[in-house]
Amino acid sequence: MTKPMRNGADYMASIKNDGREIHIDGEIVRDVTTHPAFRGAVKSIAHLWDVAADPANRDLMTFTSPTSGGPVLRCYHIPKTREDLASRRGMIERWAEETFGLMGRTPDHVASFFAGFTAKKSVFAELAGPSFADATERFYEKARDEHLYVSYAIVPPQIDRSKPAHKQSDPTLHAGVVKERDDGIVLKGAQQLATGAVLSDYIYVSCIHPLQPGDEAYAFGVVIPANAPGLKIYTRRSYAAGATSAFDYPLATRFDETDALIVLDNVFVPWEQVFFYRNLALCRDQWWRTPSHSLGNHQAQIRWATKLRFLMGLTKRLCEITGSDPMPPVQIALGEMAALSTIVEGMVLAQEAMATADEDVIWPAKKALYAVMALQSEINPRLLNAARELAGGSMIMLPSSVKDFEDAGSAADFERYIASPGFKSRDRVAVLKMAWDLIGSEFAGRHEQYEKFYGGASFLIKTNMYRNYDFARATGLVDAALNLPES
Ligand SMILES: Cc1cc2nc3c(=O)[nH]c(=O)nc-3n(C[C@H](O)[C@H](O)[C@H](O)COP(=O)(O)OP(=O)(O)OC[C@H]3O[C@@H](n4cnc5c(N)ncnc54)[C@H](O)[C@@H]3O)c2cc1C
Repeated sequence: MTKPMRNGADYMASIKNDGREIHIDGEIVRDVTTHPAFRGAVKSIAHLWDVAADPANRDLMTFTSPTSGGPVLRCYHIPKTREDLASRRGMIERWAEETFGLMGRTPDHVASFFAGFTAKKSVFAELAGPSFADATERFYEKARDEHLYVSYAIVPPQIDRSKPAHKQSDPTLHAGVVKERDDGIVLKGAQQLATGAVLSDYIYVSCIHPLQPGDEAYAFGVVIPANAPGLKIYTRRSYAAGATSAFDYPLATRFDETDALIVLDNVFVPWEQVFFYRNLALCRDQWWRTPSHSLGNHQAQIRWATKLRFLMGLTKRLCEITGSDPMPPVQIALGEMAALSTIVEGMVLAQEAMATADEDVIWPAKKALYAVMALQSEINPRLLNAARELAGGSMIMLPSSVKDFEDAGSAADFERYIASPGFKSRDRVAVLKMAWDLIGSEFAGRHEQYEKFYGGASFLIKTNMYRNYDFARATGLVDAALNLPES
């Protein structure tokens, strides 16, 4: 049945007081739409739904559902051609620009994984059987046609990384199946690091961490509504709630999507929400034999490239403000930053240009994806460091808060000493506070960690790169060189 495109008001109404159990600062929050820790992020997500629902953006943001006939988010589209990948990018980039690339787990991230799972439903059918493959496809269609926002928690809690799940001090530390019933399964344990879970409708819970024989109970893939009985969402500290004002922390107050540990306290999951269980092969192959990881991280790279463009813009503006912009060494430094961020942009396009299609779906090129992901934990801090070098003390030597401008004497001093040619004091301070929130604040520190780890630790991504690089072609060149005729 056609459901009109969800807008921001629909989104906020649907998550308001819906029974989700969110723990923060010793309290349980029932209404995320009004709580100071979450309301800024909720508003930003609501804005994304408004952009998607705007009839003027219909072609950019949506496609026609083959089931309902209504417009649905383009990130749910199963791409078949390079043009489809480019259309996906158009939608994802538009959303990323609305958050300046500062919200990683917007609804287009996990939607891309589900498009990948469903494109290769055959892998689910082969390894788990047709009923599980059908459940996966039915949930994909429901999420697509009902405009759902799914987040995910697919890494076990860190507790003791030297031991597999079944050898932890208690077998119910990592989320696992503790009971099978006629109507579904019961899960107990925790999983991390569910970014955006507090904002989403459903959480996909599974495991991307390598599992081994004996870990069968932890090898499952299920979706759980964010308000499921027994599901507790423990969020990290809120940077939005700690911020003094939107002027002082313009990014943390709006885009703190939050990260969370989810605890499953005997959560019941009906069969229609179970895509496989006790299945080590599918728990692994869901990521690699389907294009889920490629499509999900194609989204992540489009977002990161957008964020880097924002960083470039802020750094350039900062140099204009401090008057360093015309200096040749500063232009060289900005040029180096621009080169790095253009490489990231180029690698998004390379994923599309080198994409390979089979009879079901086109796969963004893994070689291009993992090349840029593997170096993200080096490129991102390098860019941030370059911006810090150019900033000097400009982001620090600022009025303590917007309140300082209220005193006429202080405001006059700021106009004299914290202003620059062409920039009134308040405007200058606004730019530099934004730069600090992107580069130096607690929100910024979390972002640096996010870009390092959102796709897994870099040693794992480098292993993916190893698996996807054409070493045969490279060593073929060596053989050819060794076999050159003598003269
Ligand atoms: C801000 C943020 C948001 C995130 N959002 C999500 C999300 O929404 N959903 C989700 O599921 N995940 C998310 N993640 C990813 C996530 O849960 C993990 O942080 C990530 O997969 C890395 O695992 P870990 O933190 O357990 O680190 P570990 O696996 O413990 O690794 C930490 C470090 O230990 C070393 N190390 C560990 N094991 C080895 C080894 N075998 N060989 C060599 N070195 C090793 C490496 O230096 C490695 O970098 C997010 C992460 C961050 C930081």
